[in-house]
Amino acid sequence: MVRVLFLGGLGRSGTTLLERVLGCLPGVCTLGEVVHLWRRDLLDNERCGCGRPFSACDFWREVGDRAFGGWHRVDPHHVLRLQDRVERTRHIPKLAGRTCDNQVREYADQYARVYAAAAAVTGARVVIDSSKHASLAYCLRHAPDIDLRVAHVVRDARGVAYSWTKTVTRPESDGRETMTRYSPSRAALLWSAHNAAFGLLGARGTAVRRFRYEEFVADPRGTSLAIAAFAGLDLPADALDFLAEGADGVVHADLPATHSAAGNPMRFRTGPVEVRADDTWRTALPPNQRRLVAAIAAPLHGAYGYPITGRRT
Ligand SMILES: [Zn+2]
Repeated sequence: MVRVLFLGGLGRSGTTLLERVLGCLPGVCTLGEVVHLWRRDLLDNERCGCGRPFSACDFWREVGDRAFGGWHRVDPHHVLRLQDRVERTRHIPKLAGRTCDNQVREYADQYARVYAAAAAVTGARVVIDSSKHASLAYCLRHAPDIDLRVAHVVRDARGVAYSWTKTVTRPESDGRETMTRYSPSRAALLWSAHNAAFGLLGARGTAVRRFRYEEFVADPRGTSLAIAAFAGLDLPADALDFLAEGADGVVHADLPATHSAAGNPMRFRTGPVEVRADDTWRTALPPNQRRLVAAIAAPLHGAYGYPITGRRT
């Protein structure tokens, strides 16, 4: 049985920074967004968080050896076909049932093997997958070898929507590709659907706890401790010493390189990083767009404690 802390929510909710900070805790191993491992790493040999191409990373080579007897014994096209058949948002109602079919079990087992191997290689008690996709979390709940804990990370929908409008280059592609973009209204619809899915997941018996991005950046120590407790980690007194408050009152995290499989470009950052709120959206997202996003997201925004009008907070 391997304990997995799954960071769930819609992308651009601050999960990469949260994952990087949690990865500094003793007993934790972070893997980035494992959902992309099969295509971006096994097929496209993109760069690991450590900077090396996936095939040249010793950590992942060891994980592949332990999990499968070597990555050459995994057919990524087969896993991607399974992914296409079972791990889709539209399948969530079916995946929310008590039972699942063999394809779901087989798909989830690929992840269970990766997690268990990563825990064995690093000696970690908790493995973090920041894949975010609700549909993957629903598949993983059917894996008998995974002790699944889902940290459902939410952020003000207007901040999320603004982030999806920005053009961001994918460093893995050496400047040739950019990350997906959505209009604010599309992002608000996705925000509502994905976050609602995590609410249902908790109602179906999976351990799900909600954490707000804004609370994390305001109090990174307190939120990290709360998430560690949720993941069942007993931390030594000095476990959070890597979070240091600067003269400006802002908390900095001294980040080491990690072996993240995929994710936001921030996964490549090392050294001191400020843990502070990114609230550019308050000035950069036009008022009419702010109101539109707030209106679409209103039901869950209110439930999560965000203001449901378009006014400044
Ligand atoms: Zn690596």
